[in-house]
Amino acid sequence: MRAADIQSELTQVLVTEEQIHAKLEEIAARVSADYAGKDLLLVGVLKGAVMVMADFARALPGPMMMDWMAVSSYGAGTRSSGVVQIRKDLDTDLHDKHVLIVEDIIDSGLTLSWLLENFASRGASSIEVFALLRKPDAAKVEVNCKYVGFDIPNEFVVGYGLDYAERYRNLRDVAVLAPHVYS
Ligand code: 5GP
Ligand code: MG
Ligand code: MG
Repeated sequence: MRAADIQSELTQVLVTEEQIHAKLEEIAARVSADYAGKDLLLVGVLKGAVMVMADFARALPGPMMMDWMAVSSYGAGTRSSGVVQIRKDLDTDLHDKHVLIVEDIIDSGLTLSWLLENFASRGASSIEVFALLRKPDAAKVEVNCKYVGFDIPNEFVVGYGLDYAERYRNLRDVAVLAPHVYS
């Protein structure tokens, strides 16, 4: 695979690597102030949040714990089905933990609202959400997301962890996937 092949499959870069890293520093400063003196557990939602989790965790100055959850609501397509399945559950007991869910993107909001409801019954002291990206025009349900990186237009994006059929996750920027790739 050549870099030039990938460029022809993207229409536009929406968020650059530099913008992402500046934003992560900014949000990490807010989070470390908000969670001072508390036991913070970051929960990354696999697989899309792998890149943001890795960079965000290292931008945090203080101690914290990390765990991962895998859910699926999309299959291989570009639309949320709304039917959420747990593929891998947490290893950590949420009792008395301050949980910050780290997500790649909020699209319809269906996955996160399901996840928040699921976590609410597990006895956490607090549950908040950090989503790197959010598509306000695609929301089907309201999700209470305390930390948002970037609001973006309602288009299917790839890169920085986000895939289409498991491809493009390694792109450093977030870009719009050309419709000819999936239609
Ligand atoms: P939601 O349930 O909010 O519609 O989205 C659930 C998941 O679908 C997101 O966490 C993300 O993994 C994936 N997703 C939503 N929108 C996009 C997109 O534009 N591009 C990619 N690659 N994945 C998306
Ligand atoms: Mg996700
Ligand atoms: Mg995906």
